[in-house]
Amino acid sequence: MFEFAQFKTKTALRDAIRAEINSVAMNQEFTSDLLQALISQRHYYCSAKGLVPEKFKKTKHPDFKTAPYYFWAFFPTIGWHGVSWVKCIDGWTLTDGVASALRISVRPIIEAYRNTHRNCEKCGKPTADIDHVSPEFKTIAEQAIAAMTQADWDSITYDWISEETFTLPENLSCVQFVKNAHETAVLMSVCKECHRANARNRKMIDQI
Ligand SMILES: [Zn+2]
Repeated sequence: MFEFAQFKTKTALRDAIRAEINSVAMNQEFTSDLLQALISQRHYYCSAKGLVPEKFKKTKHPDFKTAPYYFWAFFPTIGWHGVSWVKCIDGWTLTDGVASALRISVRPIIEAYRNTHRNCEKCGKPTADIDHVSPEFKTIAEQAIAAMTQADWDSITYDWISEETFTLPENLSCVQFVKNAHETAVLMSVCKECHRANARNRKMIDQI
């Protein structure tokens, strides 16, 4: 068993992994006891299914600003598969997967709003994002997830090996909850700066 205790904090573990990955060139295959242990023991799906990666590589990400590289692990049974080592450290669970899928389920609502609100509602610049002013999307998703029954959870199949984005069936109660909540949720079309300003204001209100 790999000794994770040597890393006193998540930051220390993150730094050690970054140092390993930064030391190899793009597309170069490499082995790593640390990454092997992290993924096989801490990755939500791999740890549950006993998947142990043999080697790793990073490849160029088309949008360097979004991510410095794509990270891949090679598994004897499935071949190369993209893996988020960051999620292994942060402790990603199925609840996080459901929250992401809920966000995807309301995309048509968000896009419809964007189509009719092309400019920032605060300053008039071209729109970058649609902000959930009230309630925040996170709050809506938390309520939807809290109301899920065991049967709802049992009905979910999370197949990490599939390259398809994880989505939820339309008829699932949490999907309906989130969609219904958008009938009264206040949305705002915003540019990047105004989105950040909204987020800052909300944080200040939270702290009062
Ligand atoms: Zn603006």
